[in-house]
Amino acid sequence: CGIVGIVGDRAVSERLVDALKRLEYRGYDSAGVATIHDGKLERRRAEGKLVNLETRLQAEPLAGNIGIAHTRWATHGAPTENNAHPHFTDGVAVVHNGIIENFSEIKDELGGAGATFKTQTDTEVVAQLLAKYRRDGLGYREAMQAMLRRVTGAYALAVIFEDAPDTIMAARSGPPLAVGYGKGEMFLGSDAIALSPFTNEITYLIDGDWAVLNRDGVEILDHDGNRVERPRQVSVAAA
Ligand code: GLU
Repeated sequence: CGIVGIVGDRAVSERLVDALKRLEYRGYDSAGVATIHDGKLERRRAEGKLVNLETRLQAEPLAGNIGIAHTRWATHGAPTENNAHPHFTDGVAVVHNGIIENFSEIKDELGGAGATFKTQTDTEVVAQLLAKYRRDGLGYREAMQAMLRRVTGAYALAVIFEDAPDTIMAARSGPPLAVGYGKGEMFLGSDAIALSPFTNEITYLIDGDWAVLNRDGVEILDHDGNRVERPRQVSVAAA
C-alpha cells in the first residue's frame, strides 16, 4: 500500500517510519522496515498501527544508511506479522504495492524446484525469483530484469540485495512510484507526500520503468533495459 526507500549517508530507519506516517491516510494493516548494516540485511515488522512498529524499533533499533519500508493492505495472506513486508529470501528484501497476478503459477514452479515459501503472500514470489536468479549466477540488475519479465500484474516494487549495500532497485507497473533527489542521498516513495520531508525534487517512474538508485543519483531503464530520461519536477505536495 505504501512504499518508502532511502539510500543515504546517515541512519534511515526513523526517517523511513516518519515517511510511512505520511501515508497512513491510505489505510494499512501492518508495517515493516528493512536496512542493511555492516553487510547484513535486518528487518522489524509489526501487525497493526505504525506505533507498534515504532515500539519494536525502540526495543531493537535498526542501524544502517540504506533501507526500504512498507505499510501493507493485505490482498493475499492474512494481515499477520509473518505476512508483513519486507519479505526476505536469501539476501534479498522486497516491498510491494499491488498484486502479482501469476503468483500461484510461479509458486508452484519454484516450489517444485525445492524453494520453501515462508508466507501466504503473492509478493514472496518476487523475492524467491530474485534469489533463484542470483543463485543461477545473474548480477542484481540482470536478476531484477529477469524477474520483471516473469511477473504479471500490478506492482510498485522496492528491492535491496545484501551484497549490493549501496543500491535500491525499483520498478513500476501500475501503482505510482516516485524517485526523490537529495544531497548525497536518494529517496523512493509511492507518493510524493511521503518524500516531502526530504525533498521536493522528484521524478515519477512510468509503467514499465525500473530504476537503480544510489547515493549519487538514479538510472531509469525501460522494459528492455535501455536507459531512459523522465522529467524531473518540483513536487507540489505540502511539506
Ligand atoms: N499483494 C500484497 C500483499 O498482500 C501487497 C498489498 C499492498 O499493496 O499493500 O501482501
